[in-house]
Amino acid sequence: MTGCMGGASVLLHICCAPDATVPWPALRDAGFEVDGFFCGDNIHPEREWELRRDSVILLAEKLGGRVEIAPYNPDLWFGRASALSWVPEGGERCRVCFRMQLDMASEFAKAHGYGYLCTTLTTSPHKDPLLINAIGEEASSRIGVKWLSRVWRKNDGFRLSVERSREMGLYRQRYCGCVYSVRELVAPMESVSGEF
Ligand code: SF4
Repeated sequence: MTGCMGGASVLLHICCAPDATVPWPALRDAGFEVDGFFCGDNIHPEREWELRRDSVILLAEKLGGRVEIAPYNPDLWFGRASALSWVPEGGERCRVCFRMQLDMASEFAKAHGYGYLCTTLTTSPHKDPLLINAIGEEASSRIGVKWLSRVWRKNDGFRLSVERSREMGLYRQRYCGCVYSVRELVAPMESVSGEF
């Protein structure tokens, strides 16, 4: 990826392809140049990361956009989050996880000249958008990138993302991402791809 130099360029941090189906077109409609950034050290096992990565690449192709895929380094994530393995989803471990992802994204945005940073994380009805936007603001302002605060699940955004991801044939995961979130899986364990 060559990066952008315009003040209206946005790096969109992508947690998964389905959650990006609403933000990416909406930011374009608002006049921004949008590139994606996927970093999935929090996704386990590796086969699951591959499925989500491939789905993000497919989405970028369908939208005619560019996406940067950060190298997979789950040890980095475990180094910060494993001490919080027992914390239920939505707690301190997730705060650390969001911060790690948004720090990486803001560093990439700064290094490649993007004017703004935004995230798809607020598409999910299971995540706290106030917390995510506060973390994004902190991570990006620390490094000198402007944060675009958005709550993508508003105005039926989540339902729309489900519809669009079905239409585009995107892979839809059954758990948030980390090995600990598999405990909160709604579907049977056999449906999780790969080995832990
Ligand atoms: S449940 Fe999701 S947000 Fe929370 S730590 Fe695991 S992968 Fe990150």
